[in-house]
Amino acid sequence: MENLNIDEKLARVRELIAALPADDAHAPILSALLSAVDELKETVESIDLDIDELYDAVDEQTDMLADLADALDLPEEGDADEAGALDGEEEDEAEDEDLYEVVCPSCGEKLYLTEEDLASPVKCTFCGEMLDVSIEDGDEGPSDGE
Ligand SMILES: [Zn+2]
Repeated sequence: MENLNIDEKLARVRELIAALPADDAHAPILSALLSAVDELKETVESIDLDIDELYDAVDEQTDMLADLADALDLPEEGDADEAGALDGEEEDEAEDEDLYEVVCPSCGEKLYLTEEDLASPVKCTFCGEMLDVSIEDGDEGPSDGE
């Protein structure tokens, strides 16, 4: 019975069970099993239907999105690289900031510091020594005297 479909198999089993002698001890067990299998089959079939419906719905959404993308003239997925290629020269500007060259008195290495770095105590990145750096710009004197 290998080539039978599930309905045919179940029908066959049903026949076999019906053909059992009335006093066969296994008949009630087989009947119970058969009805459980019937129920499972129905459940699986309804899940199958749900999945079909979901696939249809997804297809519909996909079509709608494609139409929408066409209407908006959006680039398709494959074109994504081109859009990113436009912003090539953008990162040079940050480096125009004034850098102060400071020689660490402890290890002699040169440090390049921004004005922002110098606003707070600076630690040498090479030897870890605190550097006594300060820029004279006279704009804001200490105002805590009096
Ligand atoms: Zn140092």
